[in-house]
Amino acid sequence: MKTTIKTITPESLAEAKNLIFGGEVVAMPTETVYGLGGNAFDDCAVQRIFAVKGRPADNPLIAHVHTGYDLSKIIDYDPPYAKKLREAFLPGPLTLVYPSTNKVSGYVSCGLDTLAVRVPSHTGAQAFLRAVDIPIVAPSANLSKHVSPTSAEHVYEDFNGKIPLILDGGVCEGGIESTVCDVTGEIPVVLRPGLITAEMIAAVVGDCGEYAPNLTVGEKVKSPGVLYKHYSPRCKTLLFENVTDGLTAIRKTNGERVAVLCEDEIAEVFANAGVTVLNLGKTEREMAARLYELLREAEKLCDVLITIEPKKKDGVMVGVLNRLRKACTSVDIKH
Ligand code: AMP
Ligand code: MG
Repeated sequence: MKTTIKTITPESLAEAKNLIFGGEVVAMPTETVYGLGGNAFDDCAVQRIFAVKGRPADNPLIAHVHTGYDLSKIIDYDPPYAKKLREAFLPGPLTLVYPSTNKVSGYVSCGLDTLAVRVPSHTGAQAFLRAVDIPIVAPSANLSKHVSPTSAEHVYEDFNGKIPLILDGGVCEGGIESTVCDVTGEIPVVLRPGLITAEMIAAVVGDCGEYAPNLTVGEKVKSPGVLYKHYSPRCKTLLFENVTDGLTAIRKTNGERVAVLCEDEIAEVFANAGVTVLNLGKTEREMAARLYELLREAEKLCDVLITIEPKKKDGVMVGVLNRLRKACTSVDIKH
């Protein structure tokens, strides 16, 4: 299959719409990362997404809709506090998990009685979602366990020859996947951290929990995606808490090509040590926006990537560190 990259025009949107209603998958830009989209009502299209990505069958998908879409078509119950969250943050990088059964293909939620719904703010995503006027399920458009894509070229690297069309909406501003927030209970609970933080959610509705699965007691996990190794570059990746440990690790390398991924504040130390530096930047938003781009660059230019955890740990950095730690985990957490 030939894969083409097209900017978003009335012609490419018409082509994308035809492909979607023909059961194909189409990659689309969003403000977080690129998504691999398919018709949420079409069992075959949803199964195709899992197959093309190599995604584990128990990791549910997020349905994406345009701002004018009537949510009651796809959810069973809408708690009053969810409306406040939508008014405060949508369209934007916040996914809400609602009670929902049998409204879309059963393959979307992998047997859970909930549906994750997101309204992206990216103008290209909105144009595409309006054109099709159905919920589009779209996981990140990377091969399972590889680094998420923040440009059309990243999607092409993973899916050339496997999907017909990539809608090119430029480089994603956000850089890490949406915050996933469960709204099925008394209070919202963040299942996956992102650019909309638990503090921002609590500021709007008074309270917000943060979900941390207790893997030791075999608890049934609420959001299966949190268990899988993710976001990994195809090079050896090591994570250290401080500069001293990073420098020691560099000394221990043996003729391999080494690069260091770190925040701007300490970049000079490593540049002086003679290794390639991948600079995450200064602010938490910069670090979120650059993380995946730099992890993809790392796998092209080094054998060993030494990463130093940024100092700031709260706010948006909860999401950035979550991704960084998963990228540096050498074993599949699930097994
Ligand atoms: P991705 O599409 O690759 O960004 O991953 C989607 C994330 O949303 C994964 O972590 C999923 O586990 C999570 N997710 C999707 N649907 C649900 C749901 N119904 N309940 C809980 N988590 C969900
Ligand atoms: Mg993903």
